[in-house]
This record gives sequence, structure tokens and C-alpha cells, in this order.
Amino acid sequence: MIHGHPVALRVVERSGDRIVSSTPFASVAQDAASILDTVPEAYVCLDSEFRFTLLNRARERLLGESRAHLLGKVFWEVYPALVGTRFGENCRRAMTERVPVACEDYDEASQRWYAFTATPDSDGGIVVRTVDITGRKRPGAAPTGEAVGFDQRAEERTGKPPTRQRSVSRLQHSLLAAAPLEDKLQTVADAIVRLFDADFCRIWLIRPGDLCERGCIHAEVHDGPDVCRRRDRCLHLLASSGRYTHIDGSAHRRVPYGCYKIGRVASEEEPKFVGNDVQNDPGVHDHAWARELGLVSFAGYQLRTPGEETLGVLALFAKHPILADEDALLDGLGSTVALLVKRAAAEESLARRTEELARSNYSLSESQRIAHVGSWSMEVPIGATACTWTPETYRLFGVSPDTFVPTAEMFQGLIHPDDRAAMQAWIGACLAGEEPPDLEFRVGLRDGSVRYILGRGHLVRNAENQPIRMVGIAQDITERKRAEERLKTALADLGRSNKDLEQFAYVASHDLQEPLRMVSSYTQLLARRYQGQLDAAANKFIGYAVDGANRMQRLIEDLLAYSRVGTRAKGFGSTDCTAVLEQALANLKAAIENSGAVVTHGPLPAVVHDNLLLAQLFQNLIGNAIKFHVEMPPRIHVSAGQKGDAWVFAVRDNGIGIDPQYADRIFTIFQRLHTNEEYAGTGIGLAICKKIVERRGGRIWVESQPGSGSTFYLTVPMGGDGV
Ligand code: ADP
Repeated sequence: MIHGHPVALRVVERSGDRIVSSTPFASVAQDAASILDTVPEAYVCLDSEFRFTLLNRARERLLGESRAHLLGKVFWEVYPALVGTRFGENCRRAMTERVPVACEDYDEASQRWYAFTATPDSDGGIVVRTVDITGRKRPGAAPTGEAVGFDQRAEERTGKPPTRQRSVSRLQHSLLAAAPLEDKLQTVADAIVRLFDADFCRIWLIRPGDLCERGCIHAEVHDGPDVCRRRDRCLHLLASSGRYTHIDGSAHRRVPYGCYKIGRVASEEEPKFVGNDVQNDPGVHDHAWARELGLVSFAGYQLRTPGEETLGVLALFAKHPILADEDALLDGLGSTVALLVKRAAAEESLARRTEELARSNYSLSESQRIAHVGSWSMEVPIGATACTWTPETYRLFGVSPDTFVPTAEMFQGLIHPDDRAAMQAWIGACLAGEEPPDLEFRVGLRDGSVRYILGRGHLVRNAENQPIRMVGIAQDITERKRAEERLKTALADLGRSNKDLEQFAYVASHDLQEPLRMVSSYTQLLARRYQGQLDAAANKFIGYAVDGANRMQRLIEDLLAYSRVGTRAKGFGSTDCTAVLEQALANLKAAIENSGAVVTHGPLPAVVHDNLLLAQLFQNLIGNAIKFHVEMPPRIHVSAGQKGDAWVFAVRDNGIGIDPQYADRIFTIFQRLHTNEEYAGTGIGLAICKKIVERRGGRIWVESQPGSGSTFYLTVPMGGDGV
């Protein structure tokens, strides 16, 4: 690795002759750092996880990377292209086998030779020393140590570093650039065919078996060793180069995990398989085919990064044997491809998450806007940093995210002065983890208006149970508050006007009684005294006057009775309905006798009520039942039954009946369905009944048809003791 660029290295292993030191560098790293800064050789220390623990100045210069940037980082993550190279493998060997290793390399970019040593230290890590040895090299000289295969031959011919190695290295560089994964895999397959003279090369990745049920040819195999048993781990062909270039044909488009040569390379413990006798290899499916094509070798490499699951397989067939150094380069390429696949998966998952986040952010902010609910979070301790508000929270508080910074202090400034103390106390309770009830508070807006907000907050703690932030919501409840206020005012107005009306009705009817009695008694006196002395017309007029006075008296009495229902103190107690009914019937004695009415009743309960009011109720209903009769004598039946937690009374008659369209109207004061000539009355009776029933929380209604009689129903809620 030179000038910060990873290059493939050719390694020559030697044992023990050029050991830097076995001193535990990491343990004396602090002291060593300053000493090492003064030496010209480049040193780097890696801990047992391959993390940079120390770099001296010379190394910094060589890499062109600052210490601050590298310290603590994992070597393989900074230089992924070195995974699987011989340099990488030797560093790994020094680390795991705890033996010193050495190698030399030529850096194309700087045109210099370097010697590397990797030495285990006593803390479980290694120390890598790099020395510039260009001066010791003659131009065209071969690197020291034992060279193998193609590379050495090339080097001996040209006196240059190996071209294939360089090409592989360049390829690894180019793969780091941004491009779709499929393109990169195809590039690798093409390069392998070209550089290693392969007959064909293919790359499969492990993915869920999308087409196993129908599309996969291996789904047809029902028994034997090649039955697919891992449909979640199917090998998908992603790149193909050389003799076969299609990836969507029927053959080998999918290979079952654990089946055939490829599937077995993927599933077996051994991370690779290299064989130079495919025509006789029992693992190769079709020997005739291999012979026909003249194939000699097969190499398959698991795509995986150290310690992790296999991601796929890179495989090639060639018409020549695969040599050791070729195998090493291919192995390195397999590791590079594994990193590419991993990176693509991470990028894809990041992109997916980013998109999901954007989508859920959008729905959150839309639903917050529609519901007028904002959310917020505040780091603990509060005051130090600004709170996080959603757009709707800014809108609720009447400020813009461009101009307003939502610190705790600025937030207090938005709150109505009268509500600030309550807000302080509420935040204090939230911070103490008390989960206080929701807080209603006001916010003064720029235009001078006030917005009502309902706040809810909750303290979030970390794994150590330490409070880390407060989160919550703010809901605009201005509309609800205004409606509540309007309702309260309307109810107060209604109560007042009802009281005024009752007072008026009472005073008017009470005070009118006296002059009316005078008018009535004097007209009666007039009638008695001058009977026969006046002409017929005068007699008729006196008759009208007496009748009018009587009617007015009834009206005033009824009005007085109506107003008394409201003003009478609530004297509710246990009331025996049979006794109350008898009282009402006694009051109606004359009317019952005159009409020949028959009034019957079923068993009646005791209820919680005012017995005088209840008697008046029965009297009015039975009185009407008698009054609105047909030719035959009235038959009236009173009954009661229990429904839910109320008593339901029914007063049924066989009278003229009522058109259902007037069923509600008749309970309104002064509403009558007949003239006074047809049926005498004031139109107040049923209004009194309604008021009595409602006073005790009940309901009254009628069911009737003209000519079929009527049934009046009323309910009396049961009292606490079941009556
Ligand atoms: P009033 O009896 O003085 O007319 P109410 O308030 O008692 O006043 O009754 C209102 C109207 O309801 C009556 O005028 C009548 O038309 C109708 N009504 C009440 N009770 C009966 C009934 N039992 N059968 C038929 N109609 C009835």
C-alpha cells in the first residue's frame, strides 16, 4: 500500500532472518510514538482486530493519510482491495499464527521498491514496517525470494512487475467507483476470462428462490442429493462471460444451495475449490460435456468476508490448469466481489430506509397538519440545545422554522403570561418522571389572538435508566375550547331565561288571580241580579263574559301549576304509585262518573319521586284520556314495567287517538289540536307532564293512531335503592 493506494503485493515468506523486533509495540505505543517519529522507516501498529493503533510520521507521509483519520479504523475497511491479497494474507498469518513474515513489492505509481515486515507484538497485534529499498535494487532485478508461476515468468522476461497482477490491482481499484452491482460483477467475469484465459466465468449470488415453484429447473428433481432444501438460499446467476454470456436462459439461471458443483461450493465449509482434472472430478455433473469442450480446470470461490456468511460463488472453467498464484489472485478477487456485494446490500438497505423514512415523515407531517397535532422532543438537561419541532408544531405556536429557534427559553416566551407558571410546573413534573396529566395552555399569536393547546409529555430514559430527552405532542384545541365556551354561555343564558320565564309566569298568574276573581265574581253577580231584566243580547254578553272569565281562571291556574313544577323544591322520596294513582282518581271522581269511564291498573311499583307532582301527572294523563273519548265510555288502563334501570309507565285509552305527526308537538305549552268548542282546555296539561317527568330525569312520549286510542309512556329512572 503506497501513497494511500492499495496495490496487490507479491509475498515471499521468510522465517526469522529479518525481524524488526518482538518488543510489544502496542503496550509501549505512547513512548514509542515519539521515538518512531524520528526514524526514516515507516511503522504502523494494528491491534488484534486490525485496528490502527499507531502510525509514525514516515508512514503518514507514505500513505498521504493523516493519523487522526486512520487511528481506530479497521485496516480492511480502509483498504478493502487488500483483503485476500498475499500481502493481506501474510498480515493475517502474522496475526493469527503469531509468526513474523516479510515481503517486497514494486510500486508502479512511485516507481519504487519497498520491503515490508509484519511482526506479532505481545498484545495480540502486529507491527508492520516498510522500508524503501529502491537503492538496493538494480533496474530490472527480480524481487528477492521464491517466485511462483506466471508472474515470475513474466517478470523474468520483462524485468517489470507482473502485468496480470497489475491488471487485477487496477480492476480492484476501478470496482470501488460508483456503478450498479450487476455491471461490476459482469466486469469482474469479463476480466477473469481475459486475464486468466478462462473458458467461461460466472458469478452467482445467494437470494431467496423466487421462481423455485415453477421457473427453476431443479424444482423438478424430487429426490436424491440434488433436491433443493434451502429455497431461502438459492443461487441466482448475475454475471456470465466467455463461452456462455446469457444469464437468463433456463440452464443454471438458478442453482439450488448445496446441489451440483456450484451449490456445493456455496454450502461447504471449505471456502473454495480448485481442481485441475474436471473431466474425472466426481463433483462435476457432466463429464462428457467437459470432455467435449476440452475443459481441464474448475475453480469456485465462496464470496464472503471474514467471519461472515457466504454471499455467493465466483466460478470459472479453463482449458489449462490453474496455478497457485492464479488461484491466489482469483481468491483475492472473490474477496473483493464479496465486499462489493456487501456494500451494495448496505447501500440498498440505506436507500430503502431513507425512502421509508421520507415516506413515513411525509405521512406523519400530513396527518399532523390535518389533525392539528404537532410533536416535539427536547434533550435533557433542557436549555442546552434547541428542541426538535415538526412543521405543524411551528404552525401551532405561530412561528416560522426560518426565524424561530425553539429553545426552552424562547418557548416560554410564546406562552400566555398567565399560563407560564403552570407550564414550568408541568415541565418540572415531566422531568421528574411523574407523567403529569395533559396540560391545557394558551399561546399568544402575533395577530393578538389566542390559541389553546393541549400538551402531552413523556420522559425517555436510556438503558441505564438515565433521562435523556422529553418527547410529546401539542394539539390545537382552540375550536373545542371556543365551542365549550359558547355552550357554557348558551346554557347560562338558557338557565337565566328559563328562570326569568318561570318567575314571570308565576308572578303573572299569581298576581292576575286577584283582579280576575273580581271580574269573575262581579260578572256572575251581574248575571244573577239582572237576570230577566235585560234584553236577550245583554244576557248573551253577560254569559260570554262569565265564560271568558272562567277560561282565563283555568288558564292562570294551569300556568301557575306549570311554573310551580320548576320552582317547587326537589322533594324526591319513595313514592307508592298505587296510592298516588288513587289520589289522582279521587280528584277526577266527577269526570269519571259523568263519562262512565272505567279505569283499571296493573301492579304499580314504588319509585323515587315527588308524590304531589306524580299525582298531578297521572291526573293530567287520565283526565285527557277521559276528555278525548269517543261515543263509547272511556276505558283506561295504567301499567308499569321495568326496562333497563328505569320504570316505564303506560297510560292506555280507547279515545280519539292522535295523528303521529303531532306526537311531539302536543308536549309543547299552549299547543292544542282542537278548538275550545270541540274540547275545552288550555294546552298546558301535557307540557306540565313533560316538565314533571324530566325533572326526575325521565322521558315521555305517545304512541297512537287516529281512531285507535292512545298510549302515553313515561319513564322514571330507578333510585339508588332499586325503587
Ligand atoms: P289540553 O288537554 O288542555 O288541550 P294538553 O296539553 O293536555 O292540553 O294536550 C294537548 C293536546 O294533546 C290536546 O289538545 C289533544 O289534542 C291532545 N291529547 C292529549 N291527550 C290526548 C288523548 N288521551 N287522546 C287524544 N288526544 C290527546
